[in-house]
Amino acid sequence: MTTAEQLRHALPEPVAERVRHLSDGAAVGGFVLAWLRTAQRAHDNPALDAALLAADALDVPVFVYHALSERYPHASDRHHRFILEGARDLQAQLRDRGLGTAFHLERPGHRGPHLRTLAERAALVVTEDLPVPPLTTWTTRLRDTCSTPVWAVDTACIVPMRLSPSGVERAYAFRQRFAETRAARVRCGWIDQPVRRPGFVPDDLPFAPVELGEADLPELIAACEIDHTVGPVTDTPGGTRAGYERWAHFRDHKLPRYARDRNSPTRDGVSRMSAYLHYGMVSPFRLAADAQTRGGAGAAKWLDELLIWREAAHAWCGAQRDLHRLDVLPQWAQETLAHHAADPRPALPSWETLVRGRTGDALWDACQQSLLRHGELHNNLRMTWGKQLLRWTRDPEHARTVLVELNHRYALDGRDPSSYGGLYWCLGLMDRPFHPERPITGTVRARDTAEHAQRVPLGRYSAHVRRPLRDPPPRVAVVGAGISGLTCARVLRDHGVPVTLFDKSRGPSGRMSTRRADGGLQFDHGAQFFTARDPAFARHVDSWVHDGHAAVWQGRFGRLGEDGFRPEPPPRPRYVGTPRMSALGRHLAAEVPVSLGVRIAAVERRGRTWCLRDADGGTHGDFDRIVLAVPAAQAVPLLQVAPTLAASVATAEMVPCLALMLQFDQPPELPWDGVRVDGGPLAWIAHDSSKPGRASPGCFVAHTRPSAARALLERPVEDSAGELTRAFQAVTGVRHAPSHAVAHRWRYARPALTRVSGPRCRYDRDLGLGVCGDWLVGARVEGAWLSGAAMAGRLLGTL
Ligand code: FAD
Repeated sequence: MTTAEQLRHALPEPVAERVRHLSDGAAVGGFVLAWLRTAQRAHDNPALDAALLAADALDVPVFVYHALSERYPHASDRHHRFILEGARDLQAQLRDRGLGTAFHLERPGHRGPHLRTLAERAALVVTEDLPVPPLTTWTTRLRDTCSTPVWAVDTACIVPMRLSPSGVERAYAFRQRFAETRAARVRCGWIDQPVRRPGFVPDDLPFAPVELGEADLPELIAACEIDHTVGPVTDTPGGTRAGYERWAHFRDHKLPRYARDRNSPTRDGVSRMSAYLHYGMVSPFRLAADAQTRGGAGAAKWLDELLIWREAAHAWCGAQRDLHRLDVLPQWAQETLAHHAADPRPALPSWETLVRGRTGDALWDACQQSLLRHGELHNNLRMTWGKQLLRWTRDPEHARTVLVELNHRYALDGRDPSSYGGLYWCLGLMDRPFHPERPITGTVRARDTAEHAQRVPLGRYSAHVRRPLRDPPPRVAVVGAGISGLTCARVLRDHGVPVTLFDKSRGPSGRMSTRRADGGLQFDHGAQFFTARDPAFARHVDSWVHDGHAAVWQGRFGRLGEDGFRPEPPPRPRYVGTPRMSALGRHLAAEVPVSLGVRIAAVERRGRTWCLRDADGGTHGDFDRIVLAVPAAQAVPLLQVAPTLAASVATAEMVPCLALMLQFDQPPELPWDGVRVDGGPLAWIAHDSSKPGRASPGCFVAHTRPSAARALLERPVEDSAGELTRAFQAVTGVRHAPSHAVAHRWRYARPALTRVSGPRCRYDRDLGLGVCGDWLVGARVEGAWLSGAAMAGRLLGTL
């Protein structure tokens, strides 16, 4: 019986030197499983070739498994799109090379431990060795949970990482140490192995594979539970074909000038290949050989970046136990940063302010917007951008976290070893101390944004960053300025898509509004509070709290029944807008043009574009895309132009609610601030004035159950106010009369279902018409936010 160790010893040296043997054992399954993740190419792929050689020795075929999870950190429309486009090329190229393959896309209804199932049936699992999280953890988890032997193969570097197991301290040392090894390997290139047993796919696959050739990628991505606020970079398509096209353009037009132009962000002089290299869509062997053949100063400089800086970062990452700790930095850098950790910072912008590039520092904001819109940042500016975060975060560890978070979430080459190398260089990695010592940064080399801004033609650079992903960008109208419409509009606008919002009300916020009354009274008569479960939403909520648009409602919560008040601490924090619920809507609407008091009555086709007709007969348009961010029942009459979409929307049921707003000049003393009510017409009562930042005392809001609301729905609300006030008095024991008692009718208060499954938005791609709202996700503010974000992602995906 052959063991994996014996197989490895039989490999030719160019392959063997790249293989890390993670676990041994008898290689007894019916095929070799090539589990591809970061070498998305069918050529020059040492992992594939190691699998083929092992399979030949075992006399079994190779099966290539490629999958995309929803659970990798920073999973978003951006990374998903790039990876899926790459996977599409890969699938076709693998088949051209005679290899059997299947692609699995994780999404609701399509989840399971498929890798483990396949691995258990295989003789050997071969995957890539990229020393960054979560890949390293996923590889070791497979090794630890499965009895099949596992190999990890270096597919990324020309000088294999295994040759420098203790890592790299300075780039020049790495350059010198491996000069000969490097030259020899560049000269030889890579030789692909033949496929002797073609086209093998296990006949009992544990999942339904996705055929990527004809697949509607934006639709598939919309179905995934990932961060839809980070849109795809449609002018940087993923895949081997696009990668080599970009390379050929650079090689033929810019490589000769690279040494001169590379540091200028407005000269367009860099290769922009890092994302393609990160996902292994192009071969570093081929690029290196190509550049070497061209020769000259530009090629020499570019090869230095590819072969020294990039590979030194890989080798360095490979030697770290945990990349997400400051102790990966050189000792002097750790010490100087720690020494200055408590120095006062000039500002602590919120996560949202940073992400959107709204700090007020013109150069930094332009850099961030380049990341946000285009998924890339010029290398020279990236260093200044990164170092500035030391000054805008609480301490060095916070700076490290934010650096990684912003880079990995937005940069297409995020999560690459080179990314880690560059980010940590900002904190002192592979550098030396610089004097004089400064506040905050200590002796870590400083780079001042104001100083750098003097060397950059800022106007030109900002204009370059603001270039649209499609020219001209589509004009979008969003009907409904509730949370879903506002979120959709804001995400689109942040990605450079012009948007106009329309709402029939006097202010934005929809069902998250605040009703004002004489005497400075205010009542949150719709949403009472909101919670945050989804990590993407939670990040925004934290920022709103940081910036004072929201706060935690530290109320006394529980149930109110016949036996009085029973405290029930909520399972998670309850947030409210401050100083009123609608503050949040206003914050989200801050930079988007909103036409208020406009009730849209019809959506009409005007040639190839759309126009909106309002209830007074006025028209608004032209628009290329329309989003209806309104309750389902209000969307249906506007969807006459899209009968199929209308029919699917019409099935969503929404339930009514009456809100009672009371104010007592002498506020009653009650042992609670928010209660669910057992029995009777009222379901919930809030002591509205107990919420943070509220100025008017003695205000209460009560909500009816849907059944009570249905009974009162067609009656004048003034009559209902009296009846509901009596119900309030009966259940609370408050006997005196309120000085203000008004009821409000929410005809479409909430979706009947608390949690809805299926896509978070619906979109007719041919018409350019979409719908979103809480009724597609769940009856909560968070549901509305997620749906609006998904709608934005869907539109950005079809630019
Ligand atoms: P909406 O907020 O309804 O926004 C739709 C917008 O479209 C509105 O502004 C409307 O004016 C506009 N519009 C509709 N038709 C047209 C048209 N033809 N032309 C122009 N404009 C139009 N959620 C929680 O998380 N916690 C709670 O405690 C909570 N309590 C709630 C209590 C009540 C009484 C209600 C009503 C809702 C509550 N919710 C709560 C739910 C939460 O408010 C909603 O999930 C969320 O606000 C919905 O946002 P949306 O953008 O999907 O829709």
